[in-house]
Parts: sequence; structure tokens; C-alpha cells
Amino acid sequence: MATESSMHRPCPLCGSSALEVLTELTLPQPSGSPLPDSYRLVGCEVCDFAFADTPAPQSAYDLYYQSQAKYAGATGTGAGQNTTDLRRLQDLANRLKPWLPHKHTRVLDIGCGGGGLLQALVDGGHTHCQGLDPDPAAVAAAQASGLQVTQGLLSAVPNLFAGQQFDLIVLSHVAEHLRDLGWIARLPELLAPQGALYIEVPNPDRYQVGFRPKNYYFDSEHINHIGRKALFLIMEKAHLTVGTFIDCWLPLPDGSQYPALAGVGTVAPQATPYVAEKVTLKHLRRYIADCATQAREVSDVSPPLPDNVPLLVWGAGSLAQRLLGQGAIPLAQVVAFLDGNPNKQGLTLAGKPICSPADGLRKHPTAHVLVCIAIDPHQIERDIPHSEGGQAPALHFFSSLT
Ligand SMILES: [Zn+2]
Repeated sequence: MATESSMHRPCPLCGSSALEVLTELTLPQPSGSPLPDSYRLVGCEVCDFAFADTPAPQSAYDLYYQSQAKYAGATGTGAGQNTTDLRRLQDLANRLKPWLPHKHTRVLDIGCGGGGLLQALVDGGHTHCQGLDPDPAAVAAAQASGLQVTQGLLSAVPNLFAGQQFDLIVLSHVAEHLRDLGWIARLPELLAPQGALYIEVPNPDRYQVGFRPKNYYFDSEHINHIGRKALFLIMEKAHLTVGTFIDCWLPLPDGSQYPALAGVGTVAPQATPYVAEKVTLKHLRRYIADCATQAREVSDVSPPLPDNVPLLVWGAGSLAQRLLGQGAIPLAQVVAFLDGNPNKQGLTLAGKPICSPADGLRKHPTAHVLVCIAIDPHQIERDIPHSEGGQAPALHFFSSLT
């Protein structure tokens, strides 16, 4: 067991410094990223909770989500602009129904992105829906759709919404991104006496290697792994009672599913409050061990890469960062990374430029393309010839991802 002196911080839930190092992750960041290139994933036995022992302060994460994250802009995750995302948001709206007793229920969606959930609620006839997101581009997109969305950080919520009351506050896939979880405890200030706080996170109790690459569920953004016990403790710190946990599966574009867990805390005490057992750290230790023995080699590229061709790497996100950290990308051959996120274009990753796919393909017409996209990588085969015209470049895939 490691001690506080060797850690950047104690457990953000209970303050304990008796922490167990579960694994170490190397995740090279684009130039200018405020996030660290590596961190230790540690576990707190008291809280049955795993988190990144990140050296970066919350302000670094705030800056990242305001400027560099993939949720940016109208087409970011959470905007509800593709069929899978729409289905996920409609499923979420359906899960929320027990806490939406009438059309005037006052809802606040924190970390609403482009407003996809709010739109689903408004389309369902709900009249009092508000959202908050740190990213100005996502907020502008939501506002352009006529949604009532404010730009700001979770830490600003008590001030931004002072004097207002909500019947339901939603934190959907937000808590796993927060370095400082303590701000959640301030949210009940804005809840009506019969109000509820809905928190949904990836479900660490259901992480499985399956056909996913090693450590698929660990990256620079998901810095908390919150199972039932930890979610229970987060609600308890907020003086809320958990009456309901919901296991759910989120649809992904490749037809697979992503495990999620939701907990609902209420101001009013529950008749039979839930008591969560400790299972998460045990499961995470097994998942990490399984990754080491069962995950297929990511260096296995199909068709094989010729070693003398210039290489464009399609994707500069979490997967490319993880593969760089594992030495699976032949960096000497790489001339550039291609990424559709305008916030990343113009930066560098591992010393190589990041550019738009169109620019990179035009500048390096003889380059082969190594596809670093976690979900549905073969979508590229459909996209490239259409977007570029002329001859499509040779594509290579990590066989463990396809
Ligand atoms: Zn703890």
C-alpha cells in the first residue's frame, strides 16, 4: 500500500492516504494540453473507489473541458446529432421518467454538451429544462437550437443558479471526469424538497476485456471509476438518500454496448435506503489482470505496415494516446496525426503535427493511413473516398480493434 508522501493527493471521497496502486497509465497529450502524460490509477479500500492520482489541479481539467475536449462544438458527443447518440439520449430521457412527474418539472442538466438530452425532453413536451456546460462552442450550439443553456463550470453552479429550485438535477457522464468531486455536495442547495439528483457514470463493475484493447476503460478524461459504494458515498456527502441504482447499457455506433450505472439521491429519506456492498476494486483488479493476459496485441496491424512508407495516423484522441504510451505506433514513420476536432488541429502529439484529415491527405498523397479509432474504425473506408475524391490511400487497422 502506497502512502500519502508518494501520492499527489489523498482519496477525494474520504481523504484516506492509504491507497493501493492498481496500474500505471502512459497517455501522451497533444501540445498545450493541461493534462498529464501519465498517472497512476489508485484505489481506496474504504470507499471501494478507483481514481487517477493526477498531479494536475482541477483548473487544468476546467481549461481542458473549456477548450480541447471532444464534446466541443455542435457535433460533439452529447449533441444528439447521430442516430446512436439520439438513441442513447432518448433512452436516458426514458430512464429519467420516474423523476419527471409532469411537463413542468424543473430540470437542470449539468454537463449538457450541445443539449441533446434537453432537446429530447423538450421534444417530449417538457417546458422547464435548463442546461450548463463549460464549453462555449457547445453552449452556443445549444442556444442556437433554442435551448436554455448557460456556460460555466460545476463549481459555479451554486452562484449561477442561486435562488432557483429544481426538481431534478442530472449529472450524466460528468462525475467520472471531475478531479474535485466535492462540488457535487453543493447541488442539493438547488433541489426542491421533493427533488432528486440523478448521477450516471461508466459502470466499473462491468468492465470486461471482450474484444476491446488493453485498458480501454482508462484514459485522460475518465479519472474516476465509481461503483455502487462510491456513488452511495457521493450522495451521502450531499446529504441525499439513495433509493435506486440502475444498471444500463449505452448503445455505441458499432452495435456494441457500454456499461453504465446510475444512482438517484433524494432530499426526502427513502423507506428502504440502499446499502452498497464493496465489489468495485475487486472487479477492477481482475479487469486489469485480464487486460494483461487476454487483451490481444495492439501492435498487430492488418494489413501489415511497410516499414519505409510515410504514415498518417487517423485519430489523436484517447486511443492514439494509449497506443503511443504502449509503443504500438511506429512514430519514426509518422508524418502527421489526422483529427476532425478543430480544437486539436494545429497542435502536435508526440512531436508530430495534428491536422484535419483533408489537409493531411492532401499534403502527404503517398502516405499510408493507420486508423486509430476505437469504435467502428472501418467507417473510414466509407468516408475517405467520398471526402477526398481521387485515389483512396492505403488503410491499416489495429486488428484488436476491428
Ligand atoms: Zn476513500
